[in-house]
Amino acid sequence: MNKIVIASNNQHKINEFNKILGREDVKFISQSELNITEAAETGLTFVENAILKARNACLFSGIPSIADDSGIEVDALSGRPGIYSARYAGDNCDDYANNKLLLKELSNVPFERRNARYHCAIVFLSKHDCSMPKIFNATWEGVIGSKEIGDNGFGYDPLFFLPTLNCTAAELSEDEKNTISHRGKALNLFKKEIKEIILKY
Ligand code: IMP
Repeated sequence: MNKIVIASNNQHKINEFNKILGREDVKFISQSELNITEAAETGLTFVENAILKARNACLFSGIPSIADDSGIEVDALSGRPGIYSARYAGDNCDDYANNKLLLKELSNVPFERRNARYHCAIVFLSKHDCSMPKIFNATWEGVIGSKEIGDNGFGYDPLFFLPTLNCTAAELSEDEKNTISHRGKALNLFKKEIKEIILKY
């Protein structure tokens, strides 16, 4: 059976990967199952960071890998926190601290100027020195609310309001989120090509 290592330690992301990509001919293994430590995210773009993570997982596992790098870009903050979304409130901070800081920074910004989007870059590498990474990008538009609502999802989801659905991302079920989210859309682009990709390596 083909094996692919998922270059993430975030259990929410790993669940989303498995739910969307789950297939009988491929076994997805998380990098923590292989005791692979996380790569340093020193890139300046989502794509660069996803490549760094995928390359690290490939190098230490010896098998193909898939990685994502994602984050939220807030227009009123000139695109911040962007690639620094996980560590917005400081190294080793948690979702609570990040959301609190985001609300603080936007405290004087009215609803109509609180547009934001999640961005996701997915990278597949067949080997660590592969010169042609497969790259898939997608975004998800929303508005930053004024308080946390909902218990599902993770990260900024309780603040990520979806005007067309009149709810936050944290009020969506896992399946609903996967259909419309940045990662869901990018993973589905990968899924369309997975058969061809697997045949090649
Ligand atoms: P990464 O693991 O380095 O890609 O960091 C991604 C960070 O962006 C997460 O820790 C969250 O703060 C944020 N993020 C990315 N995708 C989502 C999502 O689907 N929901 C909520 N927050 C997200």
